[in-house]
Amino acid sequence: MTEKAYDVVQIFGSAVFNEAVMKARLPKAIFKELSRVMSGDAELTLPVAEVVASTMKDWAVEKGATHYTHWFQPMTGITAEKHDSFISPVGDGTVIMEFSGKELIKGEPDASSFPSGGLRATFEARGYTAWDPTSYAFIKDNTLYIPTAFFSYSGEALDKKTPLLRSMDAVSKQAMRILKLFGNTTAKSVVATVGAEQEYFLIDKKNYDKRKDLIFTGRTLFGAAPVKGQELEDHYFGAIKQRVSDYMKDLDKHLWTLGVSSKTKHNEVAPAQHECAPIFESANLAADHNQLTMEMMKKVALEHGMVCLLHEKPFAGVNGSGKHDNWAISTDDGQNLLNPGDSPMENAQFLTFLIAIIKAVDDHADLLRLSVASAGNDHRLGANEAPPAIISVFLGEELTEVINALVAGTNVESKHLQFDIGVSSLPKFPKDTTDRNRTSPFAFTGNKFEFRSVGSSLNISGPNIVLNTIVADALEQFADELEKADDFKAALNSLLVRTIKEHSRIIFNGNGYDEAWVKEATEVRGLPEFKSTVDAMPHFRDEKNVKLFTKHRVFSEVEINSRTEILLDNYCKTINIEALTTAEMANKEILPAVIAYEKDICDTLLAKKSANISYALEESIAKKVSALAENLSVKIGELESVTTKAQGISDVFEASKCYHNEVFATMQSLRAVADELETIVGEKYWPFPTYEELLFNV
Ligand code: ADP
Ligand code: MG
Repeated sequence: MTEKAYDVVQIFGSAVFNEAVMKARLPKAIFKELSRVMSGDAELTLPVAEVVASTMKDWAVEKGATHYTHWFQPMTGITAEKHDSFISPVGDGTVIMEFSGKELIKGEPDASSFPSGGLRATFEARGYTAWDPTSYAFIKDNTLYIPTAFFSYSGEALDKKTPLLRSMDAVSKQAMRILKLFGNTTAKSVVATVGAEQEYFLIDKKNYDKRKDLIFTGRTLFGAAPVKGQELEDHYFGAIKQRVSDYMKDLDKHLWTLGVSSKTKHNEVAPAQHECAPIFESANLAADHNQLTMEMMKKVALEHGMVCLLHEKPFAGVNGSGKHDNWAISTDDGQNLLNPGDSPMENAQFLTFLIAIIKAVDDHADLLRLSVASAGNDHRLGANEAPPAIISVFLGEELTEVINALVAGTNVESKHLQFDIGVSSLPKFPKDTTDRNRTSPFAFTGNKFEFRSVGSSLNISGPNIVLNTIVADALEQFADELEKADDFKAALNSLLVRTIKEHSRIIFNGNGYDEAWVKEATEVRGLPEFKSTVDAMPHFRDEKNVKLFTKHRVFSEVEINSRTEILLDNYCKTINIEALTTAEMANKEILPAVIAYEKDICDTLLAKKSANISYALEESIAKKVSALAENLSVKIGELESVTTKAQGISDVFEASKCYHNEVFATMQSLRAVADELETIVGEKYWPFPTYEELLFNV
């Protein structure tokens, strides 16, 4: 169906208090001052905030808003909001609509129920929200949403936005030092840019409602493989079904209205799996917009009678969902620092940034790994599908050649351009010819890196905080050395050659799924492999990492400790809910269904027996089903007992190990029995929709 045409240009950002609206509505002087605040050159003062607030309110009220909310990203992983109306009584029984500068700048939600990992003592449960003027306010559901940071009374970050902003500052500061060394006099700051490709599944709401596992955990805890999966590879980029296409159109319209530049949409590898990607923007906006995108995806799906699953592994046996985090850094005047340039000197600068990133990834592969660790993502990373748990860098053949030549000091024939860094002259390489090696967790793709290990449900702030900070650190070390040098070119050449030699072990252009790679990576190259969240997360607190984050003022040690606890606690809670749901479904749904089936088989068997007809078939089915059912019942008992054991462990590090090694493992073995039963028990007995119904019914 072709939808009625609408003016995309008109509608784009129409619910956003963006720069164009500010410029049109704010007094000139105030707009100028606010622009300085947005670019980080000035602090927001109350007089300016008063004018901005009242203008924002007038604009919002015209567009139907009755409430405002400080919108923030607590450690729970979703966004939080508390709505206040604009009404203010004037004393004669009537009200006016009011919004003060103070209310815009700072909010004080009752924050005692948000996880703080022990950061807020109970006597000081207050948390504050502060407007982030670099992210535009917008209107949704008759409410003015004000993007804010969330922090404690003593200033510790309680959210994901605050450290992201700090990390963006860190990388900007260090990148600027490098740019100055290359003679750049025009850039005032460097911005980390991000484009997050979002994968998701769509299933019919009617089927979803019949599955407790989907409702409580977002993934299927049971389900035998369907007769058809993704083996025909007929879904990827396939024609989009009408119902899904209608959904995507509707989603785009909502996102565009909210100023989210949704650009690409297509079917993904697994049946019922799709992807939506925006145009990249600053990491901060990208994170806000990705949160908004996930929210709208779910909301719009419901309007279409479907449910959008953002879990990393909703279905066993077919691909899970990730979120490719495309990352680069560029100057405020628009020069992408990961874009090979047009002159030898620009290319030397490009190589400097590239090699700093390679060093950063090798020095801190542990952090990148743990930044994407979650109970959901454990099903993907290292579990025989998209990116392995081992972090490595893919550069592509040409770029690897350039780097090898640099180390060898060889002069490669140059047709067009040269890399001029002292002794080496290296050729220009075609810009966008990097192989699309889909197995690499961290791939250079022409003018940006693509971090592919991010889980589909994760807030992208985490991985980008790590990326920004580790790159800031490598650049700082480079700048420290180069600023002291008398001969810049010679110093740069020796620095780059030395750095590549030290860190080339992280570069891998081969197949990341290959067993041989795991062996080589861990045994020969000594790269870390953290198979699960429980293995990875405690390393957040390693001395090296505490030093790194405190040095760049991204996290304090207290914040690191609290976050480690929150994230591990979240892991425990997730597995706990899954275990309880598994036991309940097995007990109350699967066993009764199996017994009903058994009974019918046995009834037939008895009838046949008394009629003197052969009942060998019934007997063999009944025996098989009965044995499996008994086994299932034993597993339920085991699961209940290990879950109780895990619940009794108060230390979160120990508890998480028990949840992983015992609870999760028992859940898996219970599931195997139930899934086998599903293949035997008659279809009409099975108590909830099967994979076939879930995956092929939209
Ligand atoms: P694919 O990886 O599917 O081939 P593209 O190369 O078109 O797709 O880009 C994927 C994502 O990378 C998009 O969201 C795009 O906006 C983003 N991207 C492109 N350039 C940059 C950049 N300089 N910084 C961050 N993200 C970028
Ligand atoms: Mg991609």
